[in-house]
Amino acid sequence: MTTSERRYHITTFGCQMNKADSERMAGILEDMGFEFSEDPNDANLILYNTCTIRDNAEQKVYSYLGRQAKRKQQHPDLTLVVAGCVAQQEGEALLRRVPELDLVMGPQHANHLQDLLEQVFNGNQVVATEPIEIIEDITKPRRDSDVTAWVNVIYGCNERCTYCVVPNVRGTEQSRTPEAIRAEIEELGRQGYKEVTLLGQNIDAYGRDLPGVTESGRHQHTLTDLLYYVHDVPGIERIRFATSHPRYFTERLIRACKDLPKVCQHFHIPFQSGDNQLLKAMARGYTHEKYRRIINTIREYMPDAAISADAIVGFPGETEAQFENTLKLVEDIGFDQLNTAAYSPRPGTPAALWDNQLSEQVKSDRLQRLNRLVSVKAAERSQRYLGRVEEVLVEAQNPKDKTQVMGRTRGNRLTFFAGDIEELKGKLVEVKITQVRAFSLTGERVNESVVITSMCS
Ligand code: SF4
Repeated sequence: MTTSERRYHITTFGCQMNKADSERMAGILEDMGFEFSEDPNDANLILYNTCTIRDNAEQKVYSYLGRQAKRKQQHPDLTLVVAGCVAQQEGEALLRRVPELDLVMGPQHANHLQDLLEQVFNGNQVVATEPIEIIEDITKPRRDSDVTAWVNVIYGCNERCTYCVVPNVRGTEQSRTPEAIRAEIEELGRQGYKEVTLLGQNIDAYGRDLPGVTESGRHQHTLTDLLYYVHDVPGIERIRFATSHPRYFTERLIRACKDLPKVCQHFHIPFQSGDNQLLKAMARGYTHEKYRRIINTIREYMPDAAISADAIVGFPGETEAQFENTLKLVEDIGFDQLNTAAYSPRPGTPAALWDNQLSEQVKSDRLQRLNRLVSVKAAERSQRYLGRVEEVLVEAQNPKDKTQVMGRTRGNRLTFFAGDIEELKGKLVEVKITQVRAFSLTGERVNESVVITSMCS
């Protein structure tokens, strides 16, 4: 393949970690001389970065892959890559299922894409799923946004939640050093990015695998320390982090979020269930009382903080009364946003083997009931924004109304207002909220001349 013929397409499924991995792999491909192709049928390298958290995402991969495998029979120079969690889980079995595949690579191998492709171009069919130490990546990711960016801080997960495939597919925890993380954020600041989201499957575990303890015996490197360490990076106006785990969430972290002005007062802390017996069966390591205490503490320090979470309904053995405990938690806390899912048994996880699985009908009925409550509560939470002036970081044009731009408030509410994207992209703008919906807002610029360029010294 000559350089001029090199066109790639990446389709990404699943979570923010996968999106961040895809951006890094796109960066590697562009360094290798590939150009991005919007249309997969026009590309000669197709990479599916896959997710196995739910069965439907996995099935979608197989159907996309089937189509491209057929295309490869007519175009033998097409390179087909499956990366991510399905690749890790299935390994060689994927090659047996789709013999047209050239490369099957687990998430830990994302930074090695170039080496792996070179083996492919030398005529090999390659499977890379063995656990490895993740190397620092020197390639610049091709980021989807030029305003906000993901920054991985810890890979893998050492938890053993009984429904989750992540520890099997993403391996044990590996934290990046604070210096490497800061260097990446400094580079983003130089390039004009305004917001970073620090990412980890369980971000509260950050640093516990790095050497060093303090005099009081705690790990020297924690997420809280990292927030202090990166907070003054020039150009970066907002810092977020995800995903938090209630088991390890500390008051020290809450205080840091209050004290550090760039850290957005938005917390994404999955609770999964509002019932203690189910939380135990899920091996989550906390009770609903502890979860409520965390939220209360956050609200004591920051009464207006936005709170979002993830919840699963229909976990094996969940009774109606246990499900109602989840409803009660949602009712009591009032989330700004809640990602809900019906439990889906995943291969290789303990809960998938239990014989107390619920019917699809019960699961979907509970999901609908929960979603109805979530919308009502989110709409209630939205009311507090009406008439207020919010700081919005403008990211893009509203695709449904070209006279408007859209961005997010510090609490992560999607907000639309009239404006010119050429003028406003990447700017922090004061917007008076005039309409509220459950999950988004509409407003108007308070003063055409006021564009906040930096809220921190
Ligand atoms: S904390 Fe639990 S749910 Fe989250 S990635 Fe780790 S094992 Fe999965």
